[in-house]
Amino acid sequence: MQSQTSPLGEFDLIQRFFKTQSELMLAKNTSSVKLGIGDDCALLKIDPTEEIAITSDMLVSGRHFFPDANPEWLGWKALAVNLSDLAAMGAKPLGFTLALALPDPNPSWLEAFSRGLFAIANEYDCPLIGGDTTAGPLNICITAFGSIPKDKAIRRSGASEGDDIWVSGTVGDARLNLAALRHEIELSKEDLASIEAHMHQPTPRLNLGLALREVANSALDISDGLLGDLRHILKQSNKDAEVFLDKIPKSATLRKQTLAIQNQYAANGGDDYELCFTAPSGKRDVITKISADLNLPLTQIGSIKSMQDSAPEIHIIDNDGKELNSQQAASLLKSFDHFA
Ligand code: ADP
Ligand code: MG
Repeated sequence: MQSQTSPLGEFDLIQRFFKTQSELMLAKNTSSVKLGIGDDCALLKIDPTEEIAITSDMLVSGRHFFPDANPEWLGWKALAVNLSDLAAMGAKPLGFTLALALPDPNPSWLEAFSRGLFAIANEYDCPLIGGDTTAGPLNICITAFGSIPKDKAIRRSGASEGDDIWVSGTVGDARLNLAALRHEIELSKEDLASIEAHMHQPTPRLNLGLALREVANSALDISDGLLGDLRHILKQSNKDAEVFLDKIPKSATLRKQTLAIQNQYAANGGDDYELCFTAPSGKRDVITKISADLNLPLTQIGSIKSMQDSAPEIHIIDNDGKELNSQQAASLLKSFDHFA
């Protein structure tokens, strides 16, 4: 064991915390990785009937997580948010690269980070195939690669008039957790424990994405808030939407809060990593079956309408069945913007 005080070199660090586990995964996995960590590039084998889905997400200390955040959760989340993007397109994971800037190579931090990272990598069979390591302010950037049969990717641009709008799982818990951490809302220990996983260890909905390939017209994963993200689908599809606030799925813990908080957090909380997708109403039975097979709630929250104006609009129906005016709707539609 290397002690905390003895310096850990770049190549020792890669070997000890990343390469060994990566090789263990590749030894079990006969899939698409021809060459993993150790050369100038990794090599992926490509099936000619498939397309490659590529996505990057960066987690920056002080911006996406607190500097003293639990490194095991960070390792999990850094890959989870990328796998969530693959899920939203209907892609199957092939592998990922990790670009890591570290202020100092602290072995106990790295050990925990690596544990969280490989826990999710193994769970979803997505091996680490390369990366870069440098000294610098803590910054974790992952690029994930996935495959999809030609022309089967579920895009944001495919929503059709009359489609139902669906959401997986529940939304708003990560925002509630954040409010508790900031002491804006006091939660009991039990309530906090019940929602903590949503924020720190989100579940990428990969199996749902695969099941939706032949079912959904459009999809995305909810990272910046449900309604703000839904607006990306509407913009790319040139459509309006009608959404019922009381239909948005919320956890039992969130439902203990005031109606105003429930609506706010569920509509634009962010960090949920559930999927929002649209599908023709004729697919309701198929979707109900997918929900049962995956043991994952799928909830219809509204429908896609033709675009009435020059810009897409979401008509939000409140708990009394009345449409919110634009001023009331504004705060529910505001999604997270890093530069705002
Ligand atoms: P190069 O100088 O060609 O960029 P490096 O010396 O940076 O290569 O990295 C050596 C090998 O280790 C490469 O195969 C690279 O992909 C891999 N690697 C470097 N950092 C990481 C990391 N954080 N996680 C996984 N693989 C890494
Ligand atoms: Mg390098």
